[in-house]
Amino acid sequence: MKAMILKKIGSMGKNKTPLELADLPIPAPGEDEILIRVSACGVCHTELDEIEGRTPPPRLPVVLGHQVVGWVEKTGARAKKIKAGDRIGVGWIYSACGKCKFCRQGNENLCGDFRATGRDADGGYAQYMTVPEDFAHPIPPIFSDSEAAPLLCAGAIGYRSLRLANLEDGQTLGMTGFGASAHLVLKMARHRFPSSRIFVFARSDKEREFARELGAAWAGDPAEESPEKLDRIIDTTPAWTPVVEALKNLEAGGRLVVNAIRKENLDQEALKQIDYSRHLWLEKEIKSVANVTRRDVRDFLELAARIPIKPEVQEYPLEGANQALLELKERRIRGAKVLRIGQKTKL
Ligand SMILES: [Zn+2]
Ligand SMILES: [Zn+2]
Repeated sequence: MKAMILKKIGSMGKNKTPLELADLPIPAPGEDEILIRVSACGVCHTELDEIEGRTPPPRLPVVLGHQVVGWVEKTGARAKKIKAGDRIGVGWIYSACGKCKFCRQGNENLCGDFRATGRDADGGYAQYMTVPEDFAHPIPPIFSDSEAAPLLCAGAIGYRSLRLANLEDGQTLGMTGFGASAHLVLKMARHRFPSSRIFVFARSDKEREFARELGAAWAGDPAEESPEKLDRIIDTTPAWTPVVEALKNLEAGGRLVVNAIRKENLDQEALKQIDYSRHLWLEKEIKSVANVTRRDVRDFLELAARIPIKPEVQEYPLEGANQALLELKERRIRGAKVLRIGQKTKL
């Protein structure tokens, strides 16, 4: 099968083509696993964190990709819930232990043995992949394969961030950064909290324009002061300056949710600007978001189908993965980037 593989960690500034096209054997599903013929795989900022070593894969080479939509080709001997021919999706959560205190409380995203798709196990930048059947999710029929892909990470993690933000209808919501996840959060928030006004901070004109098109009450540069104090803010940027700016705009008793697996640390110095009285006092809170649970993925897919929320997608062929990642790195973003895979090879 064709796959785009990562062999070496390094900066994309130096190596603009970190992934190589390879011909790999089609993986065989284990007893509790299923084999999926991949049809679409979303491209996520976390892939840049893997490539550049901020959350490095434990073994190389690895197949990246954790927003996978495909068709079940084969099932393992003990996999009984899913059948060949079903359409399913796989998100960032590839497996968790199921036994620790976090797993037992439904917080499998915090499990010490949390394994991520496309990092700790081969993911969807390939024609085929395997996954434990309990970690594969049915895709509502309303979505095309490409539309469903970004819902599996950008959407699910956005859903989790909005849940952790604990927004009430009528409260103001700020969003710093306006990529794949944020644009889905905006659509979701407008539906669930119709009286809440949304303020978007984004660096590029295009992103700000896109935010206004989708119904943001205001969109400005991250360095600007927001026209009013914000009760909740969700940060999806890879940097620290927007976090400091966001704390300044946060209302007393407000909460900032940082939705990033890693920060890039190029502007870590910005943290020294934090002034306790301006940025943190008055009971402001900061909460990070870690991974997703299966419940986040499934609840979000159902909600997205009901509303409905369809992501804006931009498609690339499998071989165009480096191009898509580079555009993401350079913030040439409108909606979500998806690799279209699809071709059938003989088993
Ligand atoms: Zn992701
Ligand atoms: Zn666990």
